[in-house]
Amino acid sequence: MPKTKTVKDYIRTIKDFPHDGIMFRDVTTLFADARGFRIAIDQMVQPYAGQRIDKVVGLEARGFILGGAIAHQLSVGFVPVRKKGKLPAAVISEDYTLEYGEATVELHDDAIQPGEKILVVDDLLATGGTAAASIRLIERLGGEILSCAFIIDLPDLGGRTRLETMGMEVHALCS
Ligand code: IMP
Repeated sequence: MPKTKTVKDYIRTIKDFPHDGIMFRDVTTLFADARGFRIAIDQMVQPYAGQRIDKVVGLEARGFILGGAIAHQLSVGFVPVRKKGKLPAAVISEDYTLEYGEATVELHDDAIQPGEKILVVDDLLATGGTAAASIRLIERLGGEILSCAFIIDLPDLGGRTRLETMGMEVHALCS
C-alpha cells in the first residue's frame, strides 16, 4: 500500500535560490495541493483547540496565505505584518538585521487592542529575525502572544531558541 503523504512530502526544495548556496524550501507546492493545504492548516490549528485566540497575525507574504485560512477556521480576525511602506494607515515599525543588511516590518497602530490573545503565523522559521521583530510590534500594542506557528523550522539557524528565549511557545509541523 502506498505511504500516506505528510506535510513535508508536499514541500519542494530549490537549490541556489535566491542566491548560490541557499536551499530554498518552497511551500507553493504544498499550498497548490488540495489535501496538502488542508492537512497543513488542520495541523497548524490543532495545538490550540479550546484555547482563546482573538486574532491571527500573518507575516508577509506566505504567512498571509496560512494566516487567512487559520483565522477563518478559528472564526477570528486576521492582521498582516508587512514590509516597510505597504500599509496605508498609521503604522508602528521595527527594524531587524538580515544576513546582508537591515529590514523593517510594520503593523497598523490600531490593528490590535491591549490584552488580545494573538497567534503569530508564518511559513518558515530560520534565524527568527522576522518573527522576533513582529513579536515586538504586537507587544508594543499590548497584544499577548499565545504562540507562534510555522510549517517549517530550520533548527540550525537558531530561530526557535531565539523565540523561546523571548518567552514564546513555538510550534512547527516539520524541521
Ligand atoms: P528569518 O527571519 O531568518 O527567521 O527568516 C524567515 C523569513 O524568511 C520568513 O518570512 C520566511 O518566509 C522567509 N524564508 C527564509 N528562508 C526561506 C525558505 O527557504 N523558504 C521560504 N521562506 C523562507
